[in-house]
Amino acid sequence: MGPESKIEKLKALYRLHDDFMAGRKLACRPGCHTCCTRDLTATTLEGLFLILHCRRTGRRDLIRRLEAELEPGFRPRLTINGLAKACLESEQVPEEVLGSGKHPCPLLEDGLCAAYPARPLGCRAMASAETCPPNGAALMDPLVLTVNTVFQQVVEQLDLPGFFGNLADVIRFLNDGRHGPAYQEGRSVIGKAFKLAPNQPAAVLMVPPEHRAGIRPVLEKMGEVLALEGG
Ligand code: SF4
Repeated sequence: MGPESKIEKLKALYRLHDDFMAGRKLACRPGCHTCCTRDLTATTLEGLFLILHCRRTGRRDLIRRLEAELEPGFRPRLTINGLAKACLESEQVPEEVLGSGKHPCPLLEDGLCAAYPARPLGCRAMASAETCPPNGAALMDPLVLTVNTVFQQVVEQLDLPGFFGNLADVIRFLNDGRHGPAYQEGRSVIGKAFKLAPNQPAAVLMVPPEHRAGIRPVLEKMGEVLALEGG
């Protein structure tokens, strides 16, 4: 499957996630942006969708802003499916060095996201049941956390054999003259130089027993999205 088909599926998954979130009671409102930091992560497919969106809307400057973040903050060593596999196989999970959460995302403009329709799942997943205190954490409903995790697992699998990492690193990788075209043509590339982790298949979906019933309708719709055009 080429990148165009994958992006269509990604968009359908984003819509499905939006629909799920629309049914929850959330405190998030336009203009609140405590969670919009440069620690943001994404898959390469999401980075490609963001680049295409910025080109189409005449906002290439946003991509240049991201590329300029040479020390962007959180750089995950493991993908979410890598973490699931390590837990399943009782492997030692490498310790992650978390970002400070203090530096604003380069795409913020006057408290709003300048690329909102193409924001990655990491942004869509941040949703608080109560208004976040200044510099405080979001209050996440446990079922929302599970659904977000499964969406991340599915998006990662869709982007095989792509990569996952800090959004700024993902954008630099995609705009690199050698790696970007190779990724889009499905050729074998290595993301290590860009501090990216290779995506992995979802060996198991991380759904605790108490959320199996609650997530079932979402999983059924996900199955329909992924089955489109033989995905
Ligand atoms: S991409 Fe947009 S929604 Fe995501 S962290 Fe940056 S400003 Fe916030």
